[in-house]
Amino acid sequence: MNFDYTDEQRRWRELAREFAEGEISPVAAKLDREQKFPYEIVRKMCDLGLMGLTIPEEYGGSGGDFVGYNLALEEICRADTSVGITMEAHVSLGCAPIVDFGTPEQKEHYLGEIVQGGRKLWAFGLTEPNAGTDAGGTETTAELDGGEWVINGEKKWITNGGTDITGGVTAIAKTGERENGKPELTAIIIEQEREGFTRGPGYEKTGWRASDQRQLYFRDVRVPESNTLGERGNGFRQFLRTLDAGRVAVGALSVGLAQACFEEALSRAKERRQFGRAISEFQGIQFKLADMAMEIELARGMVLKAAWLKDKGRPFGREASMAKVFASETAKRAADQAVQIWGGEGFMETSNVARYWRQVKINEIGEGTSEINRQIIARSLLREESGEEVKARMTAQ
Ligand SMILES: Cc1cc2nc3c(=O)[nH]c(=O)nc-3n(C[C@H](O)[C@H](O)[C@H](O)COP(=O)(O)OP(=O)(O)OC[C@H]3O[C@@H](n4cnc5c(N)ncnc54)[C@H](O)[C@@H]3O)c2cc1C
Repeated sequence: MNFDYTDEQRRWRELAREFAEGEISPVAAKLDREQKFPYEIVRKMCDLGLMGLTIPEEYGGSGGDFVGYNLALEEICRADTSVGITMEAHVSLGCAPIVDFGTPEQKEHYLGEIVQGGRKLWAFGLTEPNAGTDAGGTETTAELDGGEWVINGEKKWITNGGTDITGGVTAIAKTGERENGKPELTAIIIEQEREGFTRGPGYEKTGWRASDQRQLYFRDVRVPESNTLGERGNGFRQFLRTLDAGRVAVGALSVGLAQACFEEALSRAKERRQFGRAISEFQGIQFKLADMAMEIELARGMVLKAAWLKDKGRPFGREASMAKVFASETAKRAADQAVQIWGGEGFMETSNVARYWRQVKINEIGEGTSEINRQIIARSLLREESGEEVKARMTAQ
């Protein structure tokens, strides 16, 4: 057993930390207040290789592993989760499906364009007005006509869906019905400039205010059949696998935010004096700090274990859901306790902890709510695991 990071993982962590402390932390509150998308910061993150961190080098990416990516993401989110979700949605939801399921031509073309040519962002369109947790209930349709998909429908809350540097979206559409009556779902790559593809304005949000989410509309949008991501009819399997990995990353995002809450709470506890002494001298405050630190340590361990399993090619879906639920709930408790330790000042928008408190809730909702992740965990515990799965797990533990 070895808890040490590799040199490369450590390098990603340090690079992200240095960049986050130097370039993101100083402007995070302003970006949030002004609800501005941080183009300059994202451009620099592209230059540093952070936005292509897990994309193989042969396509111009950084070729980093999943542990290294999650370590870097935690550091970015310790500074700001708006920037963090921009990175996460691009890497885990935008690029990963193309890396994992794209044809060699698609990888060459789109990944090349994303990381090298245009420094573009890519989005993942699953959620719709009537298909949230029940993403299989997708109503967007795609029909073949003369060698082209004709796409109609809409997607909701799509991160990176409408920035000036968005290259396109990989959207899940219903392409038919299976013999068992279930919908056939297919992932289709839709470039930003396709006719009939339009975007709504940004939303008024409680958190992630400097990130970009849009409603996307498809009205008779035509793309070549070759824009099918991998194989037709594989959309359901593809989005489940994409979300498994995305959940680990939302776990890392939550750990970063929880760590920021802890650090703010610790420094305030040492500074603030009441009854003639620092409030950190009161046991009531010390126990809060101890609980926060313990939970963060545990959440980080869960995230990194799930990431490590993925890097080893072993089953990691259960661990991903566990890490996501525990880390997001840890962050929620940490934000709550940080405000409590800050007292009235923590309720003021002049404090960082007030912003963290607003931002933390979405972690329990995006990329699978806590309820649905608990269901996934329970189902995996209750189901008869295949011999293969048991073996893989035994080797992992
Ligand atoms: C800021 C933001 C960014 C987002 N980015 C993206 C993106 O980039 N791409 C994308 O595709 N989507 C994105 N989403 C959508 C997000 O993934 C969904 O919000 C999430 O999956 C939950 O769906 P919903 O909000 O429709 O909730 P609903 O499905 O309406 O659920 C409402 C409540 O019912 C509960 N519930 C539902 N079904 C069950 C059940 N079977 N058992 C128990 N409880 C249940 C849920 O857990 C929840 O508590 C984003 C959302 C937001 C707010």
